[in-house]
Amino acid sequence: MINVLVWNEFRHEKCQPAVAEIYPRGLHAAIGEYLSQSEDISVTLASLDDPEQGLSQEQLDHTDVLIWWGHMAHGEVSDEAVERVCRRVNGGMGLVALHSAHHSKVFKRLTGTSCNLKWRHGDRERLWTVIPSHPIAQRIPEHFELPAEEMYGEPFDIPKPDEVVFLGWFAGGEVFRSGITYRRGAGRIFYFQPGHEEYPIFHDENVLRIIKNAVRWAKPAASAAPVECVNPAPLEH
Ligand code: ZN
Repeated sequence: MINVLVWNEFRHEKCQPAVAEIYPRGLHAAIGEYLSQSEDISVTLASLDDPEQGLSQEQLDHTDVLIWWGHMAHGEVSDEAVERVCRRVNGGMGLVALHSAHHSKVFKRLTGTSCNLKWRHGDRERLWTVIPSHPIAQRIPEHFELPAEEMYGEPFDIPKPDEVVFLGWFAGGEVFRSGITYRRGAGRIFYFQPGHEEYPIFHDENVLRIIKNAVRWAKPAASAAPVECVNPAPLEH
């Protein structure tokens, strides 16, 4: 069983009626409901206004893969919570960072760069699968379209990804590395660009399947553990 924590700052849904109409119980609930249909996935929902910001050490210790969506409240996430999350990622917990999570404290800390990019509201996006054999691309077509999405464009200020699994093309002409992977310590990270809150992106079957595939890919290896600094006796004498 893969224990997944779907974390959402959960603010737009509370202050923008148009967003609440798309995600009445929050976008994390929409993602969680889809994932819960899989017998190998156990879902817990959490948000910024929960005790310990939904990111207690106990909760993180029981999490195999953390899904993260944040935007307007990045600055409210405490440095202590960021420290706990990053330590768990280095220890083997998977992280799936969605859309505006590119500017979250957690993602910027794990990449070490500004993660700045170009953006513009309201563009049609065509996503291209560029590594069809990748586990995250299983049962995803060679390309699919989102009728309306926020444009994210290059240059995207990130370190070189381990893999670029999906590329995004926007009707305005820009392109973007929309699905990328990293390893940090024992942990696997997948960043996925779609997911602007004003569009029903987390009701799209391909987007949801990619997130589910990413959960299975990012789950900790059986041997996942932080590498300790040790001073051993020599093996030969
Ligand atoms: Zn957005």
